[in-house]
Amino acid sequence: MPARPTALASVAALAISAAVGALADATACGDPMLAVDAPDAAIVERVCTAAMTAKAQLATCGLTQSRAVRIEIVPGIDGPSDTCVGFYQCGTDTIALVPPSAVPEVMPGDSVFATLDPQVYYDSLVVHELAHALMDQAECAHPRCDSDKEYVAYAMQFLSLPESARDTLLSWRERPQEVPQERLNDILLWMKPDIFAFTAWAHFDGLDDGCAFVQGIVRGETTLQLPDFLP
Ligand SMILES: [Zn+2]
Repeated sequence: MPARPTALASVAALAISAAVGALADATACGDPMLAVDAPDAAIVERVCTAAMTAKAQLATCGLTQSRAVRIEIVPGIDGPSDTCVGFYQCGTDTIALVPPSAVPEVMPGDSVFATLDPQVYYDSLVVHELAHALMDQAECAHPRCDSDKEYVAYAMQFLSLPESARDTLLSWRERPQEVPQERLNDILLWMKPDIFAFTAWAHFDGLDDGCAFVQGIVRGETTLQLPDFLP
């Protein structure tokens, strides 16, 4: 059956060329599907370790990787806000992150995450951005709204935290007993992103199977998209 080895070889060649494209000029991690482009070897090792742990954590909730992901460590990020510490640009398989040492100076004092140890926070930040990258790699027939993307990323970020750190973080404000799904929408996300993050966790954690809800969003079967009120 000559067709089968040929097809397999083609698939393998495609996978390798995709990996090489995304990973050019970056240092491959122990997991060859992850690579880090950073100014020194210590940061590469630090971020690789965080990314490999993050990938394993995301897999427990059904988020898997199909293409290589590159993480670029940059001094600053021109993202949606001037306190941006990480950013994933859709369709690029590339994450931008500030170095771990920059977190204390960039983190706003009133952030929901400000109570976390900066190193613990950094690990959770890697989870957040890798969740964006893997969700972007998942097949989806429907466009996703910002709330869909951030719900998944924040739920995975909170889930990845050590329980004691999560408890500290949850002392930030009173936790809502019940969270109607409609409360998690793009307006709350844009106006109060920290409250969106906190509320997303409360919703995820209150479900019998939060990962099933996340999978519904990833597959495009569930959305937090607001109805279109315009005529
Ligand atoms: Zn995000």
